[in-house]
Amino acid sequence: ELGSRKRIRSVIADTKWLDLRERRIELLSELDKAMEERSIGIGYQPKVDLLSGRVVGAEALIRWEHPELGYIEPTEAVAVAEEHDRIDELTAYVVDRALEDAGAAIALDPMFKLAVNVSAQTLGSVMVLYHVARLRSRHRFPGKNLIIEVTESTPLDDIAVREIIRGLQKDDITFSIDDFGTGHSTLAYLGQVPSAELKIDRRFIMNLATSEDSLAVVKGTIEMAHTLGKVVVAEGIEDDLTAERLRRLGCDIGQGFLFSPAVAMDELLLMLEEEYSVACA
Ligand code: C2E
Ligand code: MG
Ligand code: MG
Ligand code: MG
Repeated sequence: ELGSRKRIRSVIADTKWLDLRERRIELLSELDKAMEERSIGIGYQPKVDLLSGRVVGAEALIRWEHPELGYIEPTEAVAVAEEHDRIDELTAYVVDRALEDAGAAIALDPMFKLAVNVSAQTLGSVMVLYHVARLRSRHRFPGKNLIIEVTESTPLDDIAVREIIRGLQKDDITFSIDDFGTGHSTLAYLGQVPSAELKIDRRFIMNLATSEDSLAVVKGTIEMAHTLGKVVVAEGIEDDLTAERLRRLGCDIGQGFLFSPAVAMDELLLMLEEEYSVACA
């Protein structure tokens, strides 16, 4: 009896695994098609200066609405691309579209910074230098207006990866360590990594208003990052109290639903125009 129950459970597990595999294989062909048709959208989530409240930049995020499968989470699209060797292509697709869109934002604010996410796998290949240079020249996009966000799990102390980062930094591109606090980095690692921005992960920000522990961790992280000369970004700010606490702790930039979710570039441009007219009034 016990054995058969076990068997049933493992059959259910197998079925789930098969479903997932089937879905991933279907998604792979849909991904190829969507990149070709350019039907994967890009949303832009504003990054806000916490003191002035001004939009200083935006993060490009995949927004893929499939006609039959519905909304596909960016993390799933990225996982499929990584598993099947399409991640460089997907990165190039996003960077191409984002650089094209963000030209108008730079026209409104020459200091505007566009952030794109680059996965560890892509950053491990020198081809990324070639692709970024090619796309920047296609769109005449200045390096100083570009931020590359890499997750903390990227082996940034790897010599090859560091060479690549140095190559990109030579073109004035800024590096940002994304989801900070979720990986296994040591303080020594953080000091060695050539990055100019650090993004504290949402899970610490989420609990900031209620948890003394999170408060201590965030406070320490901000102090340490500032000592190392890095700009600090808090992601996932959803309420005023959290924003106020971060402001008091000296956090530089905020991102979160309190300010805005990812929006179409047209909408972002309206936000920038509004600020521009307020500043000129
Ligand atoms: P991420 O780079 O850490 O991006 C921030 C994520 O937090 C986004 O989720 C954003 O919508 C969400 N977020 C922002 N503010 C709030 C908030 O106040 N509350 C909550 N609950 N969530 C908030 P999204 O768009 O689902 O993207 C998830 C992840 O997928 C990203 O995390 C990034 O790692 C990855 N991703 C997205 N686009 C790309 C891409 O073009 N390339 C690569 N390699 N990865 C991407
Ligand atoms: Mg990011
Ligand atoms: Mg993040
Ligand atoms: Mg995150």
